[in-house]
Amino acid sequence: MYCLTHTVVGGMTAGRLSNPVAAFLGGAISHAILDAVPHHDYKETVWGIFDLLLALGILFLARWQPELFPPAFIWGGLGGALPDLEWVLRHLSGKEISPIFPSHNRLTPHNPLAWPAGFWVQVVVMIAASGLWYFYIR
Ligand SMILES: [Zn+2]
Repeated sequence: MYCLTHTVVGGMTAGRLSNPVAAFLGGAISHAILDAVPHHDYKETVWGIFDLLLALGILFLARWQPELFPPAFIWGGLGGALPDLEWVLRHLSGKEISPIFPSHNRLTPHNPLAWPAGFWVQVVVMIAASGLWYFYIR
């Protein structure tokens, strides 16, 4: 899934935890669960940069307007996004580095879904996680 999706869902679902380490780990667990949901992944660097800027933007928004987000959103969001750092390092190095995160090395499912359906799935997942926070948990 996109970095933005992992950041938003990791932050919204795990960010309720009061312990930052637990929120971070919860975000990482949400990453593996989200990767099992059929989704679109881009291959071009330009989309990766755009995606990263959006994810950083939501983290800065959470820092700037914390009352709009779960208490540990930033920790949950970082934990959600960080596993994909191994894809970035692999891409930038140009080497076939073996992934270690379970949903990246096929220990747990990682299901593709073509554009545009695989894009809209992620929009729906982000809205659902945010809606869950705003209407039921907050
Ligand atoms: Zn991933």
